[in-house]
Amino acid sequence: MVKPAILPEITYTGIPASSGIAVGPIHVIARGFSAPDIYEISEANIGDEQGRFQAAVELTKKQLTDLQLRLASLSGNAESEIFEAHVMLLEDKNLLNRVAEAIGQRQQNAEYAFYAVMQNFLEAMRRIPDPYLRERTADIEDVSQRVLRNFLVDEDTEHEEPDGKHILLAYDISPSDTASMNRRHLLGFATEQGSVNSHTAILARSFGIPAVVGLDASVIQVTALTPAVIDGYAGKLVLNPTEETLLKYVSLAAEKEKQRSELDAKRDEATNTTDGRALTLSANIEFIEELHQVRRSGARGVGLYRTEFLLLNGSEMPDETAQAEVYTKVAKEISPNIVIVRTLDAGGDKLPIEPLTEPEPNPFLGWRGIRVSLSRPAMFRDQLRAILRASAFGKVAVMFPLISGLSELLQAREILNRCMDELEKEGIDFDAKIAVGAMIEVPSAAVCADLLAPHVDFFSIGTNDLIQYTVAVDRVNPHVANLYKPTHPAVIRLIKHTVDSGAAHGIWTGVCGEMAGDIRLTPLLIGLGVEELSVSPKILPKVGQVIRSLSYAQCTVTAEEAIKQTNSQSILKLTLAVAKEHYPDLLD
Ligand code: PEP
Ligand code: MG
Repeated sequence: MVKPAILPEITYTGIPASSGIAVGPIHVIARGFSAPDIYEISEANIGDEQGRFQAAVELTKKQLTDLQLRLASLSGNAESEIFEAHVMLLEDKNLLNRVAEAIGQRQQNAEYAFYAVMQNFLEAMRRIPDPYLRERTADIEDVSQRVLRNFLVDEDTEHEEPDGKHILLAYDISPSDTASMNRRHLLGFATEQGSVNSHTAILARSFGIPAVVGLDASVIQVTALTPAVIDGYAGKLVLNPTEETLLKYVSLAAEKEKQRSELDAKRDEATNTTDGRALTLSANIEFIEELHQVRRSGARGVGLYRTEFLLLNGSEMPDETAQAEVYTKVAKEISPNIVIVRTLDAGGDKLPIEPLTEPEPNPFLGWRGIRVSLSRPAMFRDQLRAILRASAFGKVAVMFPLISGLSELLQAREILNRCMDELEKEGIDFDAKIAVGAMIEVPSAAVCADLLAPHVDFFSIGTNDLIQYTVAVDRVNPHVANLYKPTHPAVIRLIKHTVDSGAAHGIWTGVCGEMAGDIRLTPLLIGLGVEELSVSPKILPKVGQVIRSLSYAQCTVTAEEAIKQTNSQSILKLTLAVAKEHYPDLLD
């Protein structure tokens, strides 16, 4: 626990990205690979400076090795090559000597000497038009950033943090950074960039790490070890909290904890409305290490398994056998319930599948989702065969992301059929009746849902993308976050059209975007006829209780009213009124 501070309390308000309260000292991550301060060192200090350089390199090597082990346990497969290459770079004698020379002969501080050597190296490499070398450039930049950050870790700081727990403050944190953080030490994080629907925020919620994003730029000036509180409910970062503030947050955390354990006690109850409409409540996962949380949450299956997180740290997708192992593990764990495996959705704010020769001007409108899979048939085939192989060991469904029209869906299905034929010929078991779904997350797919429905077994609405594409608001840009409106009449109409088109063809529709876990909107979604909600395991027991509190008849009336509204506020007001009537205590 942090002691009340004498310095004045300052509160920054950003966007609440992941609920929860975190109290602890700040650890700042410097922004990107930018030039550190340069200063001259005295001759007497050359030895110490060489020692600092060696220590930063050794620490980086250790972190990379740890990361490699963690990655192996996350994906169930040792994707170690990339880290081996990173470690090898830090063992390159030529490079180490050049830095040592700059420290010894030019008497430059170690971080600047290192930065200058790496910067020269990177510039030379960027001039070579070879795609392999370009790929290496990104790797080198990544390792160099790590080394620079590690100069910032000073030993005294570590002594003042006996258990090393901290709140991370950064300009931005990538989804892969979030995934690779030491979660035992991470109490929460606050960033200048980001928004509630970025993959970084989604991961924070899956891991139950309180987070605030989209903070004012001046926040990054804060010095290390400043005592702080993250209020992930209200989206606040409080620096130097007073005793009164600390007490307030301690009691809020206790109240939330009590509520959580009450909800947990009910997790196995059926998720039927008061008038008997059965909803399927399933979990979204990114990593197999989340499976125990899924079990504990009472989920009736996995409604969205984001397989692109197997690409952690920019390595290639694991091969067919390695993927089959991971999917089989998930299928067995979730059995007898279903796991819906979404095929690779790289690109956008997630990791690219391969380095692009030129950066895309609009990554969210570019090479992502099913577009990547259809243009890399061998890789797609590996993934589909792996999913099919897993279907012999549990209940598995496959779902395609970012479908924008019928022809993409038919092409994907065609490749899936070919994979089935191959496996049959090879005598490998799989579920020949495997359910196939389309994600509805591009407005053109929603509008054409009636054309897609005859070709799939279910629809899953990806509202995170559906909203961003419908209202033309980048889901990760904090500057336009106020325009990102889940209850925009256009979004609600697209959801309704999708559900109705699915129902007309006898298929169910679920929602797996973050909207499914926003309990202010549950009355509206249920009323629109959505049959499945797939949410982060952390909030699943709460959504379960919400469903049990609602009457389907009332939700239907609310949805009918909502569809007649002219603006997002009045739709929100309608659904919120029902939420407040039935579960005021559960609303944050
Ligand atoms: C979505 O877009 O709503 C979705 C669930 O997919 P992702 O967030 O992974 O893009
Ligand atoms: Mg999506």
